[in-house]
Amino acid sequence: MLKRFIAYYKPHKRLFFIDMFFALLISIIDLIFPIFTRKMINEIIPAGRMDLLLRWSIVMAFLFILRYISQYIVAYWGHLLGVKIEHDMRGDIFSHLQTLSFSYFDNTKTGNIMSRIVNDLRDITELAHHGPENIFISSIMIIGSFVVLLSIEWRLTLILFAFIPLMIFFVISKKNKMEASFKKVKNKIANVNSQLENSISGVRVAKSFTNEDYEIEKFNEGNIAFSEARGESYRVMAEFISGIEIMSNILNLLVISIGGYFVYNEVIGVGDLFAYTLYMTFLMQPIKKLADFTQQLQDGMTGFERFLEIMDIEPDIVDKTDAIELKEVKGKIEFHDVSFSYQNGDGTVLANLNMEIEPGKTVALVGPSGAGKTTLCHLIPRFYDINSGEILLDDIDIRDIKLKSLRKNIGLVQQDVFLFTGTIKENILYGKPDSTDEEVIEAAKKARIHDFIMNLPHGYDTYVGEKGAMLSGGQKQRISIARVFLKNPPLLILDEATSALDNETEIMIQKSLEELSKDRTTLVIAHRLSTIKNADEILVLTSEGIVERGNHEKLLNEGNLYAKLYKSQFKNMA
Ligand code: ADP
Ligand code: MG
Repeated sequence: MLKRFIAYYKPHKRLFFIDMFFALLISIIDLIFPIFTRKMINEIIPAGRMDLLLRWSIVMAFLFILRYISQYIVAYWGHLLGVKIEHDMRGDIFSHLQTLSFSYFDNTKTGNIMSRIVNDLRDITELAHHGPENIFISSIMIIGSFVVLLSIEWRLTLILFAFIPLMIFFVISKKNKMEASFKKVKNKIANVNSQLENSISGVRVAKSFTNEDYEIEKFNEGNIAFSEARGESYRVMAEFISGIEIMSNILNLLVISIGGYFVYNEVIGVGDLFAYTLYMTFLMQPIKKLADFTQQLQDGMTGFERFLEIMDIEPDIVDKTDAIELKEVKGKIEFHDVSFSYQNGDGTVLANLNMEIEPGKTVALVGPSGAGKTTLCHLIPRFYDINSGEILLDDIDIRDIKLKSLRKNIGLVQQDVFLFTGTIKENILYGKPDSTDEEVIEAAKKARIHDFIMNLPHGYDTYVGEKGAMLSGGQKQRISIARVFLKNPPLLILDEATSALDNETEIMIQKSLEELSKDRTTLVIAHRLSTIKNADEILVLTSEGIVERGNHEKLLNEGNLYAKLYKSQFKNMA
């Protein structure tokens, strides 16, 4: 796992080494300052060498300027490194998600995927840019000051440094406690928010049942829990802050008292004592950073693990190595003994199904809901692969065709239309992004939506989708039909394209659909049977499989399921 993490640094090696170099420079300058001070107090000032004092002060001033520049570079470029790594990871996971098959999205909640891309990646980048820097600077500072002090007086140094592991332990354990209580706070506020949202959306129901008091009581519970969690988190934080304060005071006290004793006995000089004091105050910073680092490491690595979990999911539907590109598609579709069941579903949806659609003909599929009509439609563009049997397009097994090539030749119009956030034009262009404006307008005219669009204040540039213009179901459906006109595929699948619409709209859209299916192989599913009377063949699909087939007159004369369904609908209409 670490190897795959480090691999993300590779394209940004230069940035990484620049960051590390300047981080190193900062620690070295920090380490030098007490040495310089010691020299001043021990030698230069007692000798009265003001010229040296001035010279060294100037050198130190330059070093400090260099330190600020380095600090700037580390703060800016270090973060830039994190941003770049996050960018790469986000790009990778998004591209990977695009390759995953329907079955993955069937089984995964959108919110879950979102949180992985947003939260987990943030944790990872925190680690990616602060991690190496924190552990690098902190280690150098702690080890460096240890070595310098050891060379001054080893006994005093050992006494003082004996406390450092203790402090690191304290800081890390408190830090973990703090993190846990912050997490709790986050959970509680999430509860309060969802309670709030739920209550506000349901405020009309609450009022109609006069359950306001009940709502207040419910809300109070979460509200109290949240406040308690926050109180607790501030308590832990106070312990942490005062703990650090106490420890650095103890350390300073030790330096002054024990160090003072050493000075009195002339084991060390006053300048040496000064150097000890300075190093001890410096040390708190790297100790805190080490604690930050353990936290970052924990969060970052869990985040990265979750990131890899998604990256390691193999798409179950991919091209064969020798998959072919379709050229001229005539549009003959055949199902031979096709059986299919969903991976996560219970039982077989389609069993040994046989059917055929001749090029340019229209076949209609009718049957009760849950019979597997939509499933059948989804098998043709290979949204799912079948368990046994074969599906042929122009006598080629669809598994031997390149996925993109197959799907480019199929137009699918479904009941729920999804419009992307963007303009109407962009949404129609989705059918064939390199089309000209004229082609878009032509498609909209064929879908009988052009006049409507022209009457909108911004015409084709009107925003739709989230918070965009409010369109009716019929208008949205016609935009989606325009998309398919633009795509102009030889194969067309209409899956209850009009069933969410009222009768009048349905009749209007029916006309554009008829136009669309002209000269194309079409598979149509409609729950209103009046709309499929003219189909070349009608298949009745039930859980038993295809139970009837033939044209409208034939099925009506046979007087079985189709005839019954048709008559009952006809009665309702009349
Ligand atoms: P129809 O379109 O004829 O109403 P469907 O093809 O939508 O029927 O569904 C056929 C059966 O497959 C139903 O029992 C349904 O519960 C099941 N099903 C549909 N989609 C999925 C899915 N993505 N995962 C698991 N089972 C599914
Ligand atoms: Mg369906």
